[in-house]
Amino acid sequence: MDCLFCKIIAGEIPSYKVYEDDNTFAFLDINPVSQGHTLVIHKQHFSNLEEASEEQLAQTMATVKKIGQSIKDNLGAESYNLVVNNDEAAGQIISHAHFHIIPRERGDGLQPWPQSPYEEGQAEEVVSKFRIL
Ligand code: 5GP
Ligand code: ZN
Repeated sequence: MDCLFCKIIAGEIPSYKVYEDDNTFAFLDINPVSQGHTLVIHKQHFSNLEEASEEQLAQTMATVKKIGQSIKDNLGAESYNLVVNNDEAAGQIISHAHFHIIPRERGDGLQPWPQSPYEEGQAEEVVSKFRIL
């Protein structure tokens, strides 16, 4: 499979590895939002969260938690954002699912996306559409 992140896991493309275990791999984003911006991936290729098993997600999240703790303890960041661009319309460019961990500081100037309240009746309509099994 012609996947950039699979090649990074295999060592065919170099990366700054932050952490690796039997199931997951974490490395610096080549074009960081902030210093220490890390990508966490599973070693088995799946392109989005719907393709992943609960076990694969749990393994990935365990690594996310470890990296986040290290960002707070050792990189001096106060906090971090955890971001998944899940599919192309959400901005996913590399189709091997990955979690962005973005170190944050109070007053660092990074702006979240804009929000606005529901209009009358919209929330009721939207919530009635969810059918979760
Ligand atoms: P996406 O938009 O798919 O959620 O994010 C892909 C991320 O992968 C981007 O933040 C981009 O900077 C990063 N990236 C793209 N190519 C490479 C690469 O060759 N090496 C590394 N370390 N990161 C990459
Ligand atoms: Zn892959």
